Amino acid sequence: MPHSVRYSLRVREAAPVAREVPGCEARGRTMPTKGRLHVVAGCMSSGKTGELIRLLSRHRVIGDTMIIYKHSVDTRDGSKARSRLGTEMPAEVISSGDEIDVNGYRVVAIEEAQFFDESLVAKVHELLDTGHAVYVTGLNQDFRGEPFGIMPTLMSLADELSLLTAICQKCHGVGTRTQRIIDGKPASRTTPTVLVGGADYYEARCPDCHEVAE
Ligand SMILES: [Zn+2]
Repeated sequence: MPHSVRYSLRVREAAPVAREVPGCEARGRTMPTKGRLHVVAGCMSSGKTGELIRLLSRHRVIGDTMIIYKHSVDTRDGSKARSRLGTEMPAEVISSGDEIDVNGYRVVAIEEAQFFDESLVAKVHELLDTGHAVYVTGLNQDFRGEPFGIMPTLMSLADELSLLTAICQKCHGVGTRTQRIIDGKPASRTTPTVLVGGADYYEARCPDCHEVAE
């Protein structure tokens, strides 16, 4: 009589963790119930856009639908997210979080988040509640070295946070600050946080080389 062993496998019915995406181009795919927020923060020239494009390219490989938004204050590169490495992806230019329309997209990225008001925080909550993978890039500090706009809030909400550094343009140390220069001199603390169309220029500095005029 052959010896036989019967395995009994009890499978518990899985809790519902996914749902169909209405209008999703990727047919048959499901969305997680809760989304994930990854914030890529850092100073000027720290490679935030390059990192974003790298992160998004992983989604592209598996066929995830995606859309990138950038703020209208950032007029560089028109309707493109372009890194200093030369990589680029198409982007929609908007000026408020209320303009974000993600119907059919699984992955949503927002560039230059420091320029947005609280409407973007509300929209990010909404995107996470509907299961989207959300990526946000932005300057964590303004030119004074102080927390920049809604970035501290978004960083505290993040499931994953990448804090990037640059190379200090003066001493070649670790650059973590954004230096504003106007007419060849460090900008005054009293100049507005966001200058539109001005003759200001920015570079990465370490805390020792970072200067703010009174
Ligand atoms: Zn330095």
